[in-house]
Amino acid sequence: MESETPQPAEPQDIHRREFMWAMAGLGAATAAAFAGWGALEALVPPGTADEWHKSVCRFCGTGCTIRVGMREGEIVDIRGHEDGHNKGVICVKGSMLRALPKIEGRLTTPMIRRNGKLEPASWDEALDLIGRRFKEIRDTHGPDALAFYGSGQLFTEETYTANKLFKGGLRTNNVDGNPRLCMSSAAAGYVRVYGKDEPPGCYADIDHAELFFIFGANPYECHPPLWERVQRRRAANRNAFVICVDPRRSETAKRSDLHLPVIPGTDLLLLNAMAQVMVEDGLCDMKFMQRHVRFDRNGETVDFEAFRAFLRDYTPEKVEQQLGIGADLIRHVAHRFATSRASTSLWTMGVNQRTQGTALNTMLNALHLITGQFGRKGATPFSITGQPNACGGVRDTGSLSHLLPAGRTVTNPDHRREVEHKWGLPEGAISQTPGHDAVSLFRAMGDGRVKGALIMCTNPGQSMPAADRYAKAMQDCFTVVSEIVPDSETAKAASVLLPAALWCEKEGVLGQGERRYQLVPKLLDPPGEARSDLWMLVEIAKRLGLGDLIKARTPQEVWDEWRHFSADSYYNFEGMTYDRLRALPGLQWPCPDEDHPGTARRFVEGEDPFVSKGAGIEFYGRKDKRAVVYLCPYVPSPEQRSEVYPLYLTTGRVLEQWHTGTMTMRIPELRGAAGPARFTVSEVDAKRRGIEAGDMIEVSSAFGAVQGRAVIDREMRPGLVFAAFYDARLLVNRVVADHVDPVSKEPEFKLTAVQMRRLGN
Ligand code: SF4
Repeated sequence: MESETPQPAEPQDIHRREFMWAMAGLGAATAAAFAGWGALEALVPPGTADEWHKSVCRFCGTGCTIRVGMREGEIVDIRGHEDGHNKGVICVKGSMLRALPKIEGRLTTPMIRRNGKLEPASWDEALDLIGRRFKEIRDTHGPDALAFYGSGQLFTEETYTANKLFKGGLRTNNVDGNPRLCMSSAAAGYVRVYGKDEPPGCYADIDHAELFFIFGANPYECHPPLWERVQRRRAANRNAFVICVDPRRSETAKRSDLHLPVIPGTDLLLLNAMAQVMVEDGLCDMKFMQRHVRFDRNGETVDFEAFRAFLRDYTPEKVEQQLGIGADLIRHVAHRFATSRASTSLWTMGVNQRTQGTALNTMLNALHLITGQFGRKGATPFSITGQPNACGGVRDTGSLSHLLPAGRTVTNPDHRREVEHKWGLPEGAISQTPGHDAVSLFRAMGDGRVKGALIMCTNPGQSMPAADRYAKAMQDCFTVVSEIVPDSETAKAASVLLPAALWCEKEGVLGQGERRYQLVPKLLDPPGEARSDLWMLVEIAKRLGLGDLIKARTPQEVWDEWRHFSADSYYNFEGMTYDRLRALPGLQWPCPDEDHPGTARRFVEGEDPFVSKGAGIEFYGRKDKRAVVYLCPYVPSPEQRSEVYPLYLTTGRVLEQWHTGTMTMRIPELRGAAGPARFTVSEVDAKRRGIEAGDMIEVSSAFGAVQGRAVIDREMRPGLVFAAFYDARLLVNRVVADHVDPVSKEPEFKLTAVQMRRLGN
């Protein structure tokens, strides 16, 4: 069934092709010396700014540094910041940020659901109700009947405060958020391999790489400045070579030197087969492994020979048929990866959103460790991220249900004691039981185990898999939602709706994908009675009688508390004061004191302050200072094609839209450029079902059904259907399976067995 979300008409003045042209112009604009905005000026005429402010893009995890041009109190221009890591390049979404604060239909007053209908209320009414209901629920059903579901889009100060309020104040570990849906497999992979989360490398590694191994990622559309940087490396070094592994012929795959269209769901076979070739063909860096690596099979340390024996089941000849890639090609790729002067792997949701997401992440890291493609400029494993503050705001602050701040876990008694001490809590205050991860949490909301939830800055009504089931779960619960608009899929389910300030209507720090923290300054007042999420959390804490715990109440006060908190950890960023962040285009942690320049590459002597002198490389996140290579058997996905469901559905993003489109679908130029979401189907599958371009079709799975228009793509592999998830009118997550990875608990968005039929034209 189609969503009934009202959507404005589609303006036709700027359409997708023109924006794509702009991107091509961006790629060719070498004369503009990375001035990526220059190519967009013809489409997006700049205003005449009379003052400029350094800030950060609100959208994706590339975390582009920008300059915001203002005149008479209004944003009139946005440009990439030449001093930023992105060197002035931004994409079409960033270029349209100036329209963001003015999107139509902003929520400007609190609303309370009465007799089934949301009605305007005062802040005091709304906050008093939240305080009263949360207290009743806790006193009657216990603290674990409450939950917080946050976002990689909240500021760090906001997520840190929510985590402290719920885990330290309300005494429940039911704190999770949408980063669980997109990068918990990457986090789990890094923790398993290095003992600590977050990528060891940095974006600047792209400038030095010779081989790019892009795996389950589509940076051309989803992280354009990074793709632009890869292009510049290709232009500067004729040996640079781009391999793209993706079942779909994505825009990135089309532009790569080699595309490996693996059969959906089988790509761990490729990584294991590459490792097998590396081991048998003498491509491993034995010296590096002897010094820095150990091997693990199901928690038992084993030797290199055991790794070799394990890989015998994954010779190229044994996997080629199941994988859909010939043995010779697998060998070629393994040799290229191992022997290039510097190999950089870039991956994202195609790897993370899988039931074997953690295994894929650990094996991608393993390929670098066994070949010594690590710790040199351009030699790094790098998981790109999707949201602007999933890394800094959620992973680093430990705001997932199994974590505590700065790399601690709730199941470790020493870690709990340390956090209790830092937060001034009595011993035993923090629960030793991990809370609900995202899928488990929404199930608990549906079956009554969780009775009250605060959801901030995210849209699970559209972003959760098996979305119908979880939309109902929100309706069944006392659900408080902070939102910028009243009609998102999540707002529709709210018991209380709180109007939220966005982006530069408040101040705070975003931490993007390369451990870089950057400050977003407040430049505008929010509309009407909208307030920052930090303000809401402080006021809710007061109503819950927890005002003494949440004493830091301004962004800078919270930041300083969190900065000092980090000082005794390997996440140390004590040297990042607001003053430094105001002056600089961000800093990368570790950054232990105010004179420290930040750390581009972790675990590398001379760059990382925690590495011992003379060590060269030191994986200090583990007691034995070694990284771990796991023996990861391939396990097929629970979603298998069948006679009833003969196709695979995979989901993703498009260039001009971001996430669930709550913001970008309300910016006319971006909405017009992307157009309504559609299903992309292969010629073969379309023909078999009598489907023509533009026909209305239905795609259904064991989880739900969605109707939408078909686009027929000659380059689409038969047996695969693609849809982006930005458009609530084609709410594709209704169809998507909600199986999760057993370690990371991240759902498998990338693989759902479906059927497809024509409805009409
Ligand atoms: S959306 Fe991402 S890539 Fe585009 S400008 Fe913003 S941060 Fe950069």
